[in-house]
Amino acid sequence: MWENLELSWQRTLELAWEAFCVGTVPVGCVIVDTECRIVAEGRNAIYDRDYPWPFAGSNLAHAEMMALSRIRESEHPNIREYTLYTSLEPCPMCFGAINMMHVRRIRCGARDAIAGSLVLAEATPYLRSKRYTIEYGDPVLEDFQLVLVAAYELSDSRPRDRVVAIYEQANPRAVAVGRKLFQSGYFHTAVQESFSAGRVFTDVVKELQPVGAGKV
Ligand SMILES: [Zn+2]
Repeated sequence: MWENLELSWQRTLELAWEAFCVGTVPVGCVIVDTECRIVAEGRNAIYDRDYPWPFAGSNLAHAEMMALSRIRESEHPNIREYTLYTSLEPCPMCFGAINMMHVRRIRCGARDAIAGSLVLAEATPYLRSKRYTIEYGDPVLEDFQLVLVAAYELSDSRPRDRVVAIYEQANPRAVAVGRKLFQSGYFHTAVQESFSAGRVFTDVVKELQPVGAGKV
């Protein structure tokens, strides 16, 4: 399954997993040009002050901001044709940055029931005029991302039950798997033993499959 993912998604999830491993919000982002070459990438660093980037350790350090801030439009004149991949739906800040950086194609791994703000693309005549192309990934990408987010929130030293409850309402299956793997110590081991993102993805997908009826 990991091998079947587009390379852009693989890299996006690798970055999300890297963020998880250093103890910050597990979100990754890549920006690809018209030839599908990655021209910029980023991962969340709001709780990672050591990450070598000017606003690491601040609430600005979302994955999309980290990726977008590496781009200078003079070097990428056709940025409107580029695609931004993010493992979790952009928040209002990141959507604003995407807009002002002239990226017009967005692909999301998971909808974000808390801060997700792609609805803003239709919010005003100005934003509608930008004609965004927005796609969501395969449902398995959404499940995987929400498993990571749930496990991250549960592993926080000050677990945010309210946040987990909102994600649970949106995707109970993914949060159940995240909770199960967190409680079994899987994620602790995965971090300690430096599991690759591909291995974690494969393990999580295996856990997701037998839950509930209707498996094909
Ligand atoms: Zn954001």
